[in-house]
Amino acid sequence: MSSSSFSGRPVARLLSVVLPAYREEAGIARVLAELEQVLASLDVSFEVIVVDDGSPDRTFQRVSELCAARPWLRGLRLSRNFGKESALLAGLQAARGDAVITLDADLQHPPALIPELVAAWRQGVMVVNGVKADRSVEHQGYASLATLITEGLGRLTGISLRDASDYKLLDRQVVDILTDSLAERERFFRGLSQWVGFHQVDVPFKVAPSTRRTRNWSFGGLLRLTGTALVSFTSAPLQVITVLGVLTLLMAVLVGGEALVSRMAGRAVSGFTTLILTLLIIGSFIMISLGILGAYVAKIYEEIKGRPSYLVAERCGGAGRGGHRYRRVRR
Ligand code: UDP
Ligand code: MG
Repeated sequence: MSSSSFSGRPVARLLSVVLPAYREEAGIARVLAELEQVLASLDVSFEVIVVDDGSPDRTFQRVSELCAARPWLRGLRLSRNFGKESALLAGLQAARGDAVITLDADLQHPPALIPELVAAWRQGVMVVNGVKADRSVEHQGYASLATLITEGLGRLTGISLRDASDYKLLDRQVVDILTDSLAERERFFRGLSQWVGFHQVDVPFKVAPSTRRTRNWSFGGLLRLTGTALVSFTSAPLQVITVLGVLTLLMAVLVGGEALVSRMAGRAVSGFTTLILTLLIIGSFIMISLGILGAYVAKIYEEIKGRPSYLVAERCGGAGRGGHRYRRVRR
C-alpha cells in the first residue's frame, strides 16, 4: 500500500515514540509508565526511545534500569548536551517505526493524546501536529514571548508556528525525508516538519504541568532558537539591508539638497549636529547590516563544517541486549 493513500493503513505496524530528555531523572519513570499504558491499549507494536541529551543527573541510569525489564524501551545517551533539536534528530534516526511520535519527557505533552494521533495517521494523515490549545500552565512571560516570536516568524517565513509544539506524529516517509534527505545540521524541527508538506492535520491538546521543577530554557536559549528558525527559513533579514540602504540614500538626497540650496543662497552650511547625526545613523545601519550578514555567514560556516549534529556515547536496551522484538516494515 502506498503511504500517501488515504484509504487507511493496516493495523499491525510498528509505532516509535521518541522522547528527548534533559535532566528528567525525577519524572522519566512516570512518563514511561503512562506511555506504556496508553501504547498497550492500542492495536500496534511499539518501541520507545529515550534520548538523554547529556543530562548531568542520573536520567540515563534510570532509563538503563527501566530498559532491563522492558523490551520495547531503548535509550541513547548523547556525549554532551547538544540541545533538544539534536536530541530529537538522534531519536528520529534511531526510530524504526512506520510512524514516529515525538513528545517531551516532562509530561507536558499528555500521552493520552496518542490514540488520537494514531487514529489520524491510520486515516492516511502524514503529519499530525499537536497544537497547544491551552497554555495556561506555562510561565506567563514565556507564553507571551513565544507567541510574539512565532507571530513575527510566521509573517517572515510563511510557516505558521502559532501554538505549534514538538508533539507530533510523523509517517515513516516524512521521517526518512527529515533524517536522510535534509542535509541541514542546525535544525528547527517544528518548522521543517511543516515545510515538508504532505497531508497534515492539527490536534489540539492542553499543556500539562511539567514533572520537573527546574526550567531548561533560558531567555538566551529561546532567542538562539528564534535565530536558528529565522536564518533557516527566510532570507528576509538580508533584504532589510537593502531597505536600510534605500533609507540612507533618501536621507542623503534630502540633506544633500538642503546643503546645495543653502550654499547657492550664499549661506554656509551650519551643520555640526546634522553631520554627527548622519554619521551615527549611517554607522548604526552599517553595524546592523554587518550583524545580519554575520548571522548568515555563521550559518553557512556551521553547515559547511559538516560536523554531526550529535554524538552517541552509550546505548541501552533493544538490539544491544538480546535483540528487539520488532522489525521495521519497509514499504
Ligand atoms: N530537552 C533536551 N535538551 C535540552 C533541553 C530540553 O532534550 O537541552 C528536552 C526536555 O527534557 C524535554 C523537552 O526537551 O523533554 C522540552 O524541554 P523543556 O520542558 O525544558 O522545555 P519547555 O517545556 O519549556 O518547552
Ligand atoms: Mg517542558
